[in-house]
Amino acid sequence: MPQRTVLNHDDVQRALVRIAHQILEQNRGSKDLLLLGIPSRGVPLAKRLASLIAGFEASNGTHVDAAEIAGALDVTMYRDDLRRGPARVSQPTHIPVGGIDGKTVVLVDDVLFSGRTVRAALDALSDTGRPRAVQLAVLVDRGHRELPIRADYVGKNLPSARSERIGVELTELDGGDRVVITDG
Ligand code: 5GP
Ligand code: MG
Repeated sequence: MPQRTVLNHDDVQRALVRIAHQILEQNRGSKDLLLLGIPSRGVPLAKRLASLIAGFEASNGTHVDAAEIAGALDVTMYRDDLRRGPARVSQPTHIPVGGIDGKTVVLVDDVLFSGRTVRAALDALSDTGRPRAVQLAVLVDRGHRELPIRADYVGKNLPSARSERIGVELTELDGGDRVVITDG
């Protein structure tokens, strides 16, 4: 299968640094910020964004504990396509101490496609509490939305054919950072 690298390690890192800055700019700092990754690859991405944000805030004299602003949101039970295909192994929800009430929650995922996962995440969130606002950060937006959902922060827009597959590899899970397009 023909494969083409669209983001290398440095590109991924630069995109995350930019998104971390954008999150701080948009929200005027890190107060009441919570980054929730959607398993599986959204979780390490949320952790990395939290670490970057903690680093930038530290250089402004503001102490932020990355572990206190990063978590995971399991959306498996909220999907509208539960009966299709084999059940995926779910990773548990982890909400940092303090919960989501009144927080600005940034959902983080690797790829945005139809928007159905994010819709499920919004359902999962509203069963968990009442955030002040919800935003969305994705490493790749590949188009083909089926719902009125858009990302607030995008690493890379990659218009793709439906038959193509975007491979996202992250150091934490795959031993390196890389985004590739594979022809279907
Ligand atoms: P959606 O629910 O928006 O259709 O798809 C987004 C979810 O499915 C994300 O959690 C993402 O991980 C996964 N996904 C959809 N398309 C792709 C793709 O081309 N590559 C990868 N790596 N994940 C995808
Ligand atoms: Mg996913």
